[in-house]
Amino acid sequence: MSTIKNEKYEAVIGLEVHAQLLTKTKAFAAVSPEYGGAPNSQITPLCLGHPGTLPVLNENLVRYTIKMGLATQCKISEKSIFARKNYFYPDLPKGYQISQYETPICYDGHILIELEDYDKRIGITRIHMEEDAGKSIHDQDPYHTLIDLNRAGTPLIEIVSEPDMRTPQEAYAYLKKIRQIVQYLEVCDGNMEEGSLRCDANVSIRPRGQKELGTRTELKNMNSFRNVERAITFEIERQIELVESGGEVIQQTLLWDPNKLETRKMRSKEEAHDYRYFPEPDIPPIIVHAELLEEINSELPELPDVRFTRFVNELGLSEEDSVTLTDNRPLADYFERTISELNEPKAIANVILTEVLRVLNENSFTIDSFPISPSDLAQLISLKMSDKINSTAMQSIFNEMLITDESPVKIAERLNLMQVSDSNFIEPIIENVIESNPDEVSRFKEGKKALIGFFIGEVMKQSKGKANPKQVKEMVLSKLEDS
Ligand code: ADP
Ligand code: MG
Repeated sequence: MSTIKNEKYEAVIGLEVHAQLLTKTKAFAAVSPEYGGAPNSQITPLCLGHPGTLPVLNENLVRYTIKMGLATQCKISEKSIFARKNYFYPDLPKGYQISQYETPICYDGHILIELEDYDKRIGITRIHMEEDAGKSIHDQDPYHTLIDLNRAGTPLIEIVSEPDMRTPQEAYAYLKKIRQIVQYLEVCDGNMEEGSLRCDANVSIRPRGQKELGTRTELKNMNSFRNVERAITFEIERQIELVESGGEVIQQTLLWDPNKLETRKMRSKEEAHDYRYFPEPDIPPIIVHAELLEEINSELPELPDVRFTRFVNELGLSEEDSVTLTDNRPLADYFERTISELNEPKAIANVILTEVLRVLNENSFTIDSFPISPSDLAQLISLKMSDKINSTAMQSIFNEMLITDESPVKIAERLNLMQVSDSNFIEPIIENVIESNPDEVSRFKEGKKALIGFFIGEVMKQSKGKANPKQVKEMVLSKLEDS
């Protein structure tokens, strides 16, 4: 991905991120918002906008939003209200979306993003609650547009950033961080491809040194992290070229075309909706008491930044390893469950970062369905660290553990892989090797000390890998000195 380095202009980026919450029921109706059901199977008269139906606020919508607010250092409004955002669209049968307008429940927060050479704080303007609309389906019937209202009323939060980002890479890092936090909090699954995390990007440019913001465009329809970075890069370049050739940026909404890799016009400011927001009369104000805040605060998990710092400072892991291990909560949990069985953080981190992640990547499954339990993994590593098995055996046992439930010790015994440290077993082998290689023995004695590797290798071969190499080395050395 190209980094835009323009001496004359600087880009300004602000993101609006929508996250679909993992509540059991919809925002205002007792029906599941889960994705994937048969069309219109998860609806109530309320989702259809029938007259006389009344919304009932899902308490978890409030709790999850506050969680996200606390995790991003936001202030929490003691009192906030819902508002109606009015517009007409077939997938919105009520004719309005319930959202928050003037008083978002969370405001004035920030998160920290890490880039290759620097860290940066990005302000969060607000986080508010709202409901999703239904879905129009254009590709199933040649003559008609079909409507699926399963998604209508799905609880969302909208996280609005300050215009604090200056490069597409910063926007990318910001979005990744937001996803990591919602996933740690378990309030959203963070899946951009399925649309449970969506991002609109506001982009403008200005001459370097200028304080005022330039006119912005808003980019929509980017359903992957890469596309967000690409679309912003494209848009910054487009705006610079436009201004350089004497043109002017017009405030408008642009759609990203992932196939053509370009943005195209959706609507201009003149065509923008006037939503005629007004307070939602059917839902009482949301009052957040200090006790509720305290309760939610106490439920917060350790967040990724804190966990990262602890892994580096207390467990002595490298920053790079700690980044990977704290990337997602289940992986970090798996790692910590393993070290609770065997207090060897570095050795365990090594195996997880190489062997375990390799298996996960190759089979595209997540750590949740990884077949080896933390305690079995701990046992395997402990066998290796106490020299009961060698590295080759460890690899074979690991592979076997992926397909059976047997314990590492059982597997080692069954496959006859336990190292033997019994000198009665090793000694005759060493004697045999020394006797059958007189040339090597005399060269060793003349000073070719590197031949030690040859002798150890031969002994290991004849013991079928079962001898303990450290012990073999000691015994070979003393035998050669004696002989
Ligand atoms: P709206 O609700 O009309 O989209 P907001 O004023 O709430 O507008 O801003 C939405 C997003 O646009 C915010 O993330 C904000 O940081 C960003 N933004 C506002 N002005 C600019 C600008 N000139 N350039 C880039 N981003 C901007
Ligand atoms: Mg907007």
